Formats: sequence, C-alpha cells, structure tokens
Amino acid sequence: AETVRLLSSSQVITSVVSVVKELIENSLDASATTIDIRLENYGFDKIEVRDNGNGIKVADVPVMAIKHFTSKISSSEDLEQLTTYGFRGEALGSICCVSEVLVTTKTADDDISTQYVLDSTGHITSQKPSHLGQGTTVTVLKLFKNLPVRKQFYSTNKKCKEELKKVQDLLVAYGIIKPELRITFVHNKINLSGFLPKADSSSSLTSLSSSERSFIFINERPVHQKDILKLIRQYYSVLMQKDSTRLYPVFFMNITVPASAVDVNVTPDKTEVLLHYKESVLFAVENVLKTLYGPLPA
Ligand code: ADP
Ligand code: MG
Repeated sequence: AETVRLLSSSQVITSVVSVVKELIENSLDASATTIDIRLENYGFDKIEVRDNGNGIKVADVPVMAIKHFTSKISSSEDLEQLTTYGFRGEALGSICCVSEVLVTTKTADDDISTQYVLDSTGHITSQKPSHLGQGTTVTVLKLFKNLPVRKQFYSTNKKCKEELKKVQDLLVAYGIIKPELRITFVHNKINLSGFLPKADSSSSLTSLSSSERSFIFINERPVHQKDILKLIRQYYSVLMQKDSTRLYPVFFMNITVPASAVDVNVTPDKTEVLLHYKESVLFAVENVLKTLYGPLPA
C-alpha cells in the first residue's frame, strides 16, 4: 500500500513547480489576498507558502492531508458549480508522501495559530502554539527525499534554473489573472538593492562617466565579484552598441544574503568573498538586468 501511495503521489507532485502551484491554489481557494513564497536550494530543501486566507478550521485539521478529503465539495451539484481550484483533496496528502510537511494555521475564530507536523500518510504527529497571524503557512522540507531518481533528475544547475524559471512564470501568471493579489517570491533570501544606469539614455544621470565606476557590496561589504560585474557589463554593452553617445556605466549594487551564505575569509583584505549560493545570486542579478534592459540578443 505504501508503494502505491508513493507512486500515485509522485504523479500528482512531479516537481517544485507542482508543489508551488498546489499550495498557491489552496491559498487562493482560502480567499488569500497576500501570498509569500520562499524557496531554499531551488525548493529542494524548502518550499514555504504563506497566506493571509481563511485558515483551516480545527475540525478539518486532522483530515486536511488525508487523501480525498476536501472541504470544497460535498455534493455532485457542487462539482457542477465548481468555483475553486481544488476539489480532489489530493494535493496536500501527496506532498506529505514525498516530503516533510508542517502546516501552521489560524482562522478568524482561533485565538492563536497552531503549527502541526504531518507524517508521510498525512496524519498529525505533533502540534504546538505558534505566533503567526490569520491564514495558513505550509512548509515543505526535503522534497523527493524518498524518490532519489526524481531528485537526481533535478541535480544539474541547468535543470534547477529551468525549474526556478517555471516557478517565476507561474507566479507572474497568477499575478496577471489576479491583479488584486500581492505575491512575493524569495529564493535563498537574496535581496538586491542599488543603482543601475537607466535603459533610456536621454535621462541617464547615472551614466556620466568616461570610464566605468562600479561598486558591488555583499551584506554592505565592498567586494570584488567578477561574475556579477561581467553580467552587468554584458547587458550594458548592448545598450552602448545601440547608442554610441552612451558613456560608461556608473552603478552600485548591494546584495543581501544570509550571513551563512558567504565566507568572507577568502583573502586577507576580505574583498574576494566566497558565495555559497553564487548561482542563485547571479540568477537574481540577471533577472533584474533583464527587467531593466531587456533580454540579451541571441
Ligand atoms: P483540495 O484543494 O482539492 O480540497 P488539497 O489536498 O489541496 O485538496 O487540500 C485539502 C484541504 O486542506 C482543502 O480542502 C482545505 O480545506 C485545506 N487547506 C489546504 N491548504 C489550505 C490553505 N492555504 N488555507 C485554507 N485551507 C487549506
Ligand atoms: Mg488544493
């Protein structure tokens, strides 16, 4: 029976994107107006979806992840007038079967939120009071821990990036169809801020230099990060080719990552830092550049 469960679950939950999709749809079905999504290691270490929706009623908690339980339909008429994304009662149970799941929830009637730990069959194994506001947070840890072949499939950088791109596209899609919805997305808790020259050179106060001036910081520490510099130059050089009057860029960028993600002791002057999630940082930087300057010509 365990093998059959695993098999059917792995058909419902095929990738990080499918987990994110199911969790977002549950949040939307619970009338959430804000959804915050966080991934760690492309979602394979952690996927967390937090909403400010209706929460899960105490009576529904013990069965929420039991397969084919759903609070969304109770009659065949309901099925004909379906207005929710979910109706099969399969997602949460399937996710439990291929990962470790925590659900923290609070309805308007509850005084405080409660965090529940679920086992692979979707049963609650423990619970404790929590401090979150109304809504539901589902935390999915160690996705595909019991499906090594599936995990192996996503072990290359290329596959991981493709998957992350799919997650972003999915979020944009929900953002378009639900303009009133606020969605945030964080991968490995990277935060970028700074100044980059404008794409429109007529107002390019920031590109007045006759030689490049660049300042890159990681956690407010000035650093030399050749790969980031290279990326910015690549995107900027396309603009310079299009417009010969354009001068060299002046920019600064501060990248905030968890302290544990950087090793500052690489060189004695601490300007060369080792980034543990360099791929993700580059990915995030490139996304900003793409948004600002458009994609690189093929
Ligand atoms: P379905 O969406 O098909 O009903 P799921 O397995 O996706 O099945 O979810 C099971 C049940 O868990 C839902 O019917 C709902 O009652 C509850 N639930 C799951 N996620 C949330 C959420 N974010 N907010 C409120 N209720 C939720
Ligand atoms: Mg659902």
